[in-house]
Amino acid sequence: MPTEVRALAMASATAPFERITITRRDPLPDEVVIDIKYAGICHSDIHTARGEWGEVIYPLVPGHEIAGVITAVGPEVTKFKVGDHAGIGCFVDACGKCKHCLMGEENACLERTIWTYNDIGWDGVPTAGGYSQQIVARADYVLKIPETIPLAAAAPLLCAGVTPWSPLVRYHAGPGTKLAVVGLGGLGHMAVQLGHALGCETTVISRTLRKKAAGIALGADHYYATEDPDTFEELAETFDLMICTISADLDVNALVSLLRLGGVLVFLGLPPDDQHFKIEPLCFGHKSITGSDIGGIPGTQAVLDFCAAKGISAKVEVISADEVTEAYNKVVAGIPQFRYVIDIATL
Ligand SMILES: [Zn+2]
Ligand SMILES: [Zn+2]
Repeated sequence: MPTEVRALAMASATAPFERITITRRDPLPDEVVIDIKYAGICHSDIHTARGEWGEVIYPLVPGHEIAGVITAVGPEVTKFKVGDHAGIGCFVDACGKCKHCLMGEENACLERTIWTYNDIGWDGVPTAGGYSQQIVARADYVLKIPETIPLAAAAPLLCAGVTPWSPLVRYHAGPGTKLAVVGLGGLGHMAVQLGHALGCETTVISRTLRKKAAGIALGADHYYATEDPDTFEELAETFDLMICTISADLDVNALVSLLRLGGVLVFLGLPPDDQHFKIEPLCFGHKSITGSDIGGIPGTQAVLDFCAAKGISAKVEVISADEVTEAYNKVVAGIPQFRYVIDIATL
């Protein structure tokens, strides 16, 4: 019998969160049921819920940093058993057969990636995310959360962890790599920890030095402020890899000037407007500007396993269901140091 569970939803782009009841289907033979314990608040939840990224299916239950415990498994499932710690990231399904899925990039499925919320599931029902007590999904799209990572600190790894992880792996970050992380929010604080654990010489570039102590504690070797004009002179032609997590308008030319010959600047944040930059420094310096988004299932599992092996996880502030509307405003204002995670027991 389908299960009625509580969830937090926004009824419109401007409404505060309210508790509603949603229905979760019975698991199919290849599906699992997860009792959700924690759900991270990602900036993209806010952009989506507030209608800043296009059409929204309201009432909207956001949440794609989901950590919980398996409570039921379909008869065909071998990957999980009841009691296992499990997580769901930004998507809950894909075709599994196209060339991108076969590459482990199910997030770029050529058929259709089914997003964890604000999408229509294969059953024709709008998908509802992690700000809820339970979720049902195909086991192939569910991640194993290593038991050594507390569930609250594991939740953000499903999006804010894999997002910087993908370009770090793609561009072979490791010992000898001079890495710059631009911005020290949810994505940035994971990029610093991952880069440091991979052996990179890691530099944070932030607007001010306000979060310097935190950045150094996370493993950054150096910390610079863009408001200091000397920064750009001192760091000129330095970095092999720069990961930019800022989703505001940027001086792209200034960032490019910090890359060494052949260096790569990767955008993870999505500024609302087109950005402009000069081509000459790219030609003469063999420099690249590129972008990256989340990652597929193999990459997401890899970052969870890497974090467990290295003893790192997201730095989180656990909040109650009643604090989510206020937390959204604080995230937009850039107030939180790291990641808000909702304690689903308070729902
Ligand atoms: Zn996200
Ligand atoms: Zn596919």
